Amino acid sequence: MNLLKQKIVTEGKVLSDSVLKVDGFLNHQVDPVLMQELGEEFASRFAGEGVTKIVTLESSGIAPSVMAGLSMGVPVLFARKRKSLTLTDHLYTAGVYSYTKNETNDISVSADYLSSDDVILVIDDFLANGQAADGLISIVEQAGASLAGIGIVIEKGFQNGGDVLRGRGIRVESLAVIDSLADGNVTFHTKEAS
Ligand code: 5GP
Repeated sequence: MNLLKQKIVTEGKVLSDSVLKVDGFLNHQVDPVLMQELGEEFASRFAGEGVTKIVTLESSGIAPSVMAGLSMGVPVLFARKRKSLTLTDHLYTAGVYSYTKNETNDISVSADYLSSDDVILVIDDFLANGQAADGLISIVEQAGASLAGIGIVIEKGFQNGGDVLRGRGIRVESLAVIDSLADGNVTFHTKEAS
């Protein structure tokens, strides 16, 4: 994932010791060439797991997920963060606490698109304290579906989400793992955690 690390170094902005801004290629403007590479990498890491569907969270999880879905030949379902006029009943819902905003928001998906036969790959843009991943896992569990694992574009290894999820026996594949954002510098983990 050299292209991803290169992009983080050249275009990412360290906003504080704990927050990285990557609006230039992932969270606002999207780099399709990079997204395709990320999608193919997720597909190769989870090949042979029998994944039937990808579940992600709007909006920044959608781009890498769609490319992974294209590569794996499976649909992509994104959880919504806001109430929708068309998404009203038969919902699976989970509360996701945001440390940065200090608030809990519900995320929802329609029960129509998840079944107990599904084998789910959860994908998200960042992994920090694991709240978003937890909410998505809860939705997979509510549907009675199986979880193949979690694919993360950027894991902040100095926050505890990855350790907690792996400690629960969940397979977490992160394409870039950051050990530190101290002093405005991005320090990568030398070997991507898996
Ligand atoms: P968690 O739920 O694991 O604590 O945080 C993950 C979610 O918070 C991601 O979906 C992402 O939207 C957001 N997030 C957490 N840390 C960062 C960060 O350093 N930079 C950006 N751009 N988003 C982050």
